[in-house]
Amino acid sequence: MITRDSGLRDRTEECSACRRRTQHQVSIEVRAESEGKNAAFSREPYRVTECLVCGETTNTRMNNA
Ligand SMILES: [Zn+2]
Repeated sequence: MITRDSGLRDRTEECSACRRRTQHQVSIEVRAESEGKNAAFSREPYRVTECLVCGETTNTRMNNA
């Protein structure tokens, strides 16, 4: 299942810093990766989650095919 999130959303997820499930702000961010790598993968979508308790930010590359 593919879900596209274009806006911000609150979700409960595991926080590695808090070591428990906390409220997170989730957004999708497309970043340019032009530094030293193949130009074919110039833009990668990242899922960015920010813990609303401690402020820890986690970036996860969504391209896991
Ligand atoms: Zn946290």
